[in-house]
Amino acid sequence: MKNIKDYNIEELKQEFVELGEKPYRAEQVFKWIYQDNVTSFDEMTNLSLDLREKLKQNYSLCIYKILRKQVASDGTMKYLFDVLDGNAIETVLMKYHHGYSLCVSSQIGCKMGCKFCASTGIAFIRNLTSGEIVEELLAVQRDENIKISNVVFMGIGEPLDNYDNVVNAIRIMNNQKGINIGARHISISTSGLVPNIYKLADENIQCTLSISLHATTDEKRSKMMPVNNRYNIEELIKACKDYINKTNRRISFEYALAKDNNDNLEDAKGLVKLLKGMICHVNLIPINKIENGEFDKSSNENILKFRDYLNDHGIVATVRRELGSDIDAACGQLRRKNLG
Ligand code: SAH
Repeated sequence: MKNIKDYNIEELKQEFVELGEKPYRAEQVFKWIYQDNVTSFDEMTNLSLDLREKLKQNYSLCIYKILRKQVASDGTMKYLFDVLDGNAIETVLMKYHHGYSLCVSSQIGCKMGCKFCASTGIAFIRNLTSGEIVEELLAVQRDENIKISNVVFMGIGEPLDNYDNVVNAIRIMNNQKGINIGARHISISTSGLVPNIYKLADENIQCTLSISLHATTDEKRSKMMPVNNRYNIEELIKACKDYINKTNRRISFEYALAKDNNDNLEDAKGLVKLLKGMICHVNLIPINKIENGEFDKSSNENILKFRDYLNDHGIVATVRRELGSDIDAACGQLRRKNLG
């Protein structure tokens, strides 16, 4: 059965026309789904019984079941959802002073193979559909009875490797008649799939782009991230400059600091040189060591020195607060768990 949440408003209107219904009915349904967050077609009381029946026969509402919910000491919550085909995905809810931020997964598993990430070493299963991504947000809003204000595509998966579904999910989340999260409050994080960075720049969506850079020489970056063998740093930075020129948006560079690997003064100098003149921000992440991982967390002292060097040399850098580490919900700790 088709998932009704896979359609953006224009596509849903088209579906309704094909069902012999008026397009404005699609808007009513859109509102029920994304503003009222209903869990059944029966609750859509301004539709005729006939239409409700027709919708039930043709579409599912894709309502996730919570398999597990863990709450960290800092209030961060990690959800394990049953995506209704026997697979499970993780989503993390974080509370900041400016509101709730949701870290969503875009794929079941990941193909990128970054050496420091817990998603590596687990088989890639499939892409999530747009509706499945959007339901991560709706399921959390229902469960906690809250309104989420920011979404980051930093859970499991490489969003730009599931390009069409991720872009469509953003269009759905962004729609003013629905969830209505401003595109500027949505971030896509990528390990650096260069062709799709160019594509995204032409999409005319004002979302924030985060680049997982993590190193400033190809030798080091390739050791951490195999994707660098396909698209090296020079090509990546060129694509970022194009993105900034076309969108006028500031790029955020993620840099996970690993002890004696990429956290010394030489690396900081390299980073300043690489990013000089770009409208950007550097997010320093103390690396989270994964089981049997070869990378260890940098010392606090090194992290602060690294940050200060960047700030002193014209690159705005902050250290990301670690949330949810006691429930394995911090960066790079998410992994697909087997059911049962
Ligand atoms: N595939 C996308 C998004 C998922 S990862 C990407 O690569 O950007 C979200 C962020 O967490 C990325 O910057 C990623 O490099 C980082 N990350 C992954 N594992 C980590 C770990 N063990 N410690 C710190 N950051 C990690």
